[in-house]
Amino acid sequence: CGIVGYVGRRDLPAVSSSADLAPGIDSHSALDVVLEGLRRLEYRGYDSAGVAVIADGGIESRKKSGKLSNLVTELEERPLPVSLTGIGHTRWATHGGPTDQNAHPHLADDGKLAVIHNGIIENFAEVKGSLLAKGHTFLSETDTEVAAVLLGDIYRSLVKASGGKAVLAESMQQACQKLEGAFTLLAIHADEPDVVVAARRNSPLVVGLGENENFLGSDVSGFIDFTRRAVELGQDQIVTITPDSFEITDFFGKPAEGTEFHVDWDA
Ligand code: GLU
Repeated sequence: CGIVGYVGRRDLPAVSSSADLAPGIDSHSALDVVLEGLRRLEYRGYDSAGVAVIADGGIESRKKSGKLSNLVTELEERPLPVSLTGIGHTRWATHGGPTDQNAHPHLADDGKLAVIHNGIIENFAEVKGSLLAKGHTFLSETDTEVAAVLLGDIYRSLVKASGGKAVLAESMQQACQKLEGAFTLLAIHADEPDVVVAARRNSPLVVGLGENENFLGSDVSGFIDFTRRAVELGQDQIVTITPDSFEITDFFGKPAEGTEFHVDWDA
């Protein structure tokens, strides 16, 4: 299973609107970077794959059980718009069978939030119970969707309280405080279009540093085609990447530092 995230201004073809849909996988967009990363991570094994991008103020997602080639066929049939921000996932099912519906990303906050996850949320049943009691609904059998809906629920209340400030990173902190188990979580929100937020507990996460672009991966193979500068996150840390910055904190918002290193092996 594997995880990739990307935000940046990589050589985008000039498109004026969503009417100029790029043929998904041929354009230089977040999607290309993410798909390339997922190919590199295939060696880790998986049963489903999915991607999400932010475009035109919303989230667009495609996901398919089976090989990455199934997802690519789906993307050829239903292309995604060119985007600066994207996430990609290969799943090794633990909770819920390897179906299209259970594949990641899982959406929440009325489709404006997309979440991918590797690992297991141990206390998902308990968290799901309290979310159901608040009136939330679920479309899959995964533990991951519970994390997505929890994050969306926290995001909504923080956004209200903050009067429209960026709250994705803070929402991730609060969600992680409530989650137990092993997780690498990545989230994007349509209202914060040039940000990817990621968290790790008992599960790997590496940041890749580029020029006007930054990357996330379960390991450096997720971005090895694009940069050799990497930062390894510590246990129970959260990172927020934008095209020209990255910021690490613990689960309580306290600033933290990762370990920077250079990837010198041949891909
Ligand atoms: N537990 C999650 C699921 O079953 C994630 C599995 C994984 O690591 O890919 O969907």
